[in-house]
Amino acid sequence: METEKVKCLIIGSGPAGYTAAIYAARANLSPVLYEGLQPGGQLTTTTDIENFPGYPEGISGTQMMEDLRKQAERFGADLRFGVATAADLSKSPYKITIDEEKVIEAQTIIIATGAAAKYLGLEDEKKYAGMGVSACATCDGFFYRKKVVAVVGGGDTACEEASYLAGLASKVYLIVRKPFLRASKIMQERVMNNEKIEVLFEHNAVGLYGDNGVEGVHLVKRMGESDEQRYDLAIDGFFLAIGHKPNSDIFKPYVDTDETGYILTEPGTPRTKVPGVFAAGDVADPHYRQAITAAATGCMAAIEAERFLLN
Ligand code: NDP
Repeated sequence: METEKVKCLIIGSGPAGYTAAIYAARANLSPVLYEGLQPGGQLTTTTDIENFPGYPEGISGTQMMEDLRKQAERFGADLRFGVATAADLSKSPYKITIDEEKVIEAQTIIIATGAAAKYLGLEDEKKYAGMGVSACATCDGFFYRKKVVAVVGGGDTACEEASYLAGLASKVYLIVRKPFLRASKIMQERVMNNEKIEVLFEHNAVGLYGDNGVEGVHLVKRMGESDEQRYDLAIDGFFLAIGHKPNSDIFKPYVDTDETGYILTEPGTPRTKVPGVFAAGDVADPHYRQAITAAATGCMAAIEAERFLLN
């Protein structure tokens, strides 16, 4: 298999990956970045980003990622299409296989592979993507001021998203498949005590409808052991909060992860337990998951890589 040696390999092309590339390129690390399955990452699936400092008018997710990409290119980062399909971090130089056809031998690696929000798997989620379907209340909630929205899920994320949306929307339905919430007690109480939130227990969303974006959801309510009731509920926005999956599978044999797969780093740093291997952005962040926090940890990872190479 073809082999190439690089000083700094960045895997992933969200805000963390591109920011790492900008910093690493400016530090003369000649970084090579592989963009992965979804160039630009999760932000390319949202509509406008209005909470990234420096854009008073907001900016579209695709435009922001295009700008970050250009900025990394301007300083000489080598940006390539390709997906990391295997990793060997057992000894330095670390080996990453790209598309099962090429091996990169890297002195330092910045893992910025992100996380993917889980979806229910309905055809309608794709049909209405960016037109009423969202997996991020902090990103898109603002567009539903005084409107009616539904959140799917019964965990802490769902309760947090529902509470956040209740501050904006006129009504929030929380669609929960079980007869109880899985969320922590305090989050459950917050939801139950919020008069704008109505919890629909033992409900499943099975489809969406609407001519101009989402106008409603098809629901199935479980009634006892074998009976069910189907009905439609008018909503303007449909939010998924059924968990995220960090894209860390190929690194798991070498770095520590939590039970969901988020890469564990030394607190306050992007350092994994493998010297010279850093994790930035959502792949190591179950808590904040924002573009600005991902960019910040990408910057930190590049600075760490630079220092590591100096030693
Ligand atoms: P969780 O895995 O905790 O919860 C996922 C929820 O989605 C569950 O209620 C689950 O239902 C439901 N769900 C999953 N798949 C489907 C499906 N196909 N159809 C319908 N419902 C589905 O994920 P979270 O993202 O909520 O939380 C992840 C971790 O992060 C947790 O440890 C959580 O405590 C933590 N967290 C903490 C916060 C805080 O402390 N402020 C905030 C956010 C997250 P079921 O119960 O039936 O499996």
